[in-house]
Amino acid sequence: MGSESPAKRKCMGADCENDAGTLQCPTCLKLGMKDSYFCSQDCFKRNWSTHKSVHKGNFLRNLIPPKVVSEPDPVTGTHNPFPAFSFTGPLRPVYPLSARREVPTSIKHPDYAKDGTPHSELTFKGRTQIDILDKKGQAGMRKVCRLGREVLDIAAAALKPGVTTDYIDEIVHKACLERNSYPSPLNYNHFPKSVCTSPNEVICHGIPDQRVLLDGDIVNIDVTLYHGGYHGDLNETYYVGDKAKADPESVRVVEAARECLDEAIKLVKPGALFREYGNVIEKHAKSKGCSVIKAYCGHGINSLFHCAPNIPHYAKNKAVGAAKEGMCFTIEPMIALGTHRDRTWPDNWTSVTQDGKRTAQFEHTLLVTADGVEILTARLPESPGGPESMPVVETNGEEKPEVNGH
Ligand SMILES: [Zn+2]
Ligand SMILES: [Zn+2]
Repeated sequence: MGSESPAKRKCMGADCENDAGTLQCPTCLKLGMKDSYFCSQDCFKRNWSTHKSVHKGNFLRNLIPPKVVSEPDPVTGTHNPFPAFSFTGPLRPVYPLSARREVPTSIKHPDYAKDGTPHSELTFKGRTQIDILDKKGQAGMRKVCRLGREVLDIAAAALKPGVTTDYIDEIVHKACLERNSYPSPLNYNHFPKSVCTSPNEVICHGIPDQRVLLDGDIVNIDVTLYHGGYHGDLNETYYVGDKAKADPESVRVVEAARECLDEAIKLVKPGALFREYGNVIEKHAKSKGCSVIKAYCGHGINSLFHCAPNIPHYAKNKAVGAAKEGMCFTIEPMIALGTHRDRTWPDNWTSVTQDGKRTAQFEHTLLVTADGVEILTARLPESPGGPESMPVVETNGEEKPEVNGH
């Protein structure tokens, strides 16, 4: 197919019927407008007073770039709130967010529920002293963590291609209320939703929105409950549909993250140094060809959502201190297929990989016991999800199992 022939040019003069010559308006040319041809110098001068107005509009347009607005999708009515942002991967936010979900006043609220500021955490900010829970505190943590496991399992059971992350938020929110619990993320430092949902290249802190989960996605659901004065925090990454389980790269990163957490937990006992977990996690991640995210750490947890100690997940970190009986903290490694470097969306929450490659995370809340560790948020026999083995990949018609690790 040949290229289209240009239409015969007409003179720009207002009531001139002549064909255009080679004369172009010099101002238009400077402004990058390439179609201001006139038939003659005389016609151009005669029409100057009316023609010059076209320069003004273009001049302003060049000075002030047009505001980028995303048109709502005519079918769904949704839009991308940050169309000018350089997204690192294929994922986009899908707005509007649903209306804020309410928590009845009969349920005990944490101090930040009203104004978004965790006042009691700020009081202890920078404090390195780590709380030792007595029997009553330990029982409180055991209870809220068991409820948290129930809520995560309910959310995971609802995951399937076609549901939105906002629907997962609705399920988590309701399941929390049914357990007389406040969903801890809601309004924590103004986080707008009751759970974090982090698909594909989102490292953590994804905001549930109107995006539909697709067959082939992986998604992390990070649940925290506040009940009886204590927070319980856990997360898992799940495969959405069968396509994800058949994708070797997705399985590689998800299973690496799962194993990294398991390996780190094996170390936990009184006397174990906080800096050691990162060494074990990074060693295992590297053996699977993955990297460890450095920007987010595990944390102490009890009547505060986040407190001392800080638990880095990367090797050769400088975390100070050691575990003691009665301490509660999380380990929550974030493992990436590509770079460990992160970037945050303009919503100030959603953290993504700089190269847009997938990441996965697993988290438990742990209690240090006299001789080891109690996984307070442990999986139950009926919990959805769980490890997947590397899919068999077809090559040249032959079935060949993917080599797992090194
Ligand atoms: Zn969490
Ligand atoms: Zn956490």
